[in-house]
Amino acid sequence: MSKGQVIIVGAGVLGLSCAVQLSRSGHNVTVIARDLPGDSHIDYASPWAGAHFRPSLAKSPAEQLEQQLMRDTYSELEMLAKEHPESGVKIVPAIEYFDSADTNSFLAKENGYIDWPDFRILKSDEYPAHHEGIQLGVTYRSWVLNSPVYLQWCRKQAEEKGVEFVRANIRSLDEAVAIFQQKGQGNRESDIRAVINATGRGFNDPDSFPSRGQFIIVSNQCDKTISHHWADGSSTVIIPRPLGGGTVIGGTKEPNNWSEDISDTATETILKRVAGICPELIKKENPVAGSNYGFDIRQVYIARRPMRRGGLRLEKEILSQGIPLVHCYGAGASGFKISWGVAKQVELLVANTQLLLNDPLEAS
Ligand SMILES: Cc1cc2nc3c(=O)[nH]c(=O)nc-3n(C[C@H](O)[C@H](O)[C@H](O)COP(=O)(O)OP(=O)(O)OC[C@H]3O[C@@H](n4cnc5c(N)ncnc54)[C@H](O)[C@@H]3O)c2cc1C
Repeated sequence: MSKGQVIIVGAGVLGLSCAVQLSRSGHNVTVIARDLPGDSHIDYASPWAGAHFRPSLAKSPAEQLEQQLMRDTYSELEMLAKEHPESGVKIVPAIEYFDSADTNSFLAKENGYIDWPDFRILKSDEYPAHHEGIQLGVTYRSWVLNSPVYLQWCRKQAEEKGVEFVRANIRSLDEAVAIFQQKGQGNRESDIRAVINATGRGFNDPDSFPSRGQFIIVSNQCDKTISHHWADGSSTVIIPRPLGGGTVIGGTKEPNNWSEDISDTATETILKRVAGICPELIKKENPVAGSNYGFDIRQVYIARRPMRRGGLRLEKEILSQGIPLVHCYGAGASGFKISWGVAKQVELLVANTQLLLNDPLEAS
């Protein structure tokens, strides 16, 4: 027997994970979205993501909740990598270098960083050449995924469970209800168990804002994911995309920058930094580093991460028609890392249960 009708607005990684989760647990689900898997839009963050797993410290209650969401997601993606490699998920080693790191915090048991699988502190002779700035290097077992492939795979999983997808650019969540009702005869408000707001930045939320990111996809292959956190607060990442997706390298974090223009200076910095962090990335494929530092560039792109002051909005309200509304947006730079954990919490909220921890999540 159906557990009721749920309308999900948004088909990014959060909307799709909720669609799969809720349909698996017996709900009828309709997804309404402006952008669907396969589409490309600067404000559709999910297909642009690297995407990889990188832990964060869990000091505050909000960070502890985020880490719990990451652990739930990690288990699910580890299972997918093993049982459904066609989903585009793969387990790879991760390396992180920190130019300034409070090692006490990183290595404190209670902060959870050292608890990820295969965690180990690197010896300095494992650092790249010219590593003078590195204060701490660590390795652990991570997952990477090919986000466009993965989103399509999630959509297929959802459709196999009967989820319907409707393309519409709506102005309010009430409009989503109206669209659903127009679709079928006799769709009454009382039949709707909940509406899920998984629209990335929400509707007119003054706390939501974009963080522009410039990244590059190269054909050069890498068998691990590498992150270098520089002393100036910026980070450089190298994220292999399984199933022929090349390698995503980058990038920038530019809060509130709405420009869609590619910065040639940023491109140059990314290529130069990545060539220094991981010289084997270019040596293998192009021994003579000529133009583009030996990288075979497929695409340079700009995308917007859906940030929110106060972090992810994961809470329940009531829509004007009396229908329960679950907000699930503002995932910032962490949407993939927390996706399955969030979907499970959304299911609990739809079923009226409280969150395990009530503190808001910090935007990362
Ligand atoms: C370059 C880059 C690299 C990243 N790397 C990582 C990473 O390595 N790991 C990680 O965990 N995260 C990463 N992220 C962050 C991650 O991509 C986001 O947190 C995540 O995609 C957010 O997903 P979402 O479903 O909330 O939003 P989105 O993917 O933006 O989806 C929003 C959905 O809502 C729909 N929508 C919005 N407004 C309306 C409307 N008015 N009417 C109808 N539909 C609407 C959209 O069409 C879309 O379907 C990265 C992001 C970027 C840009």
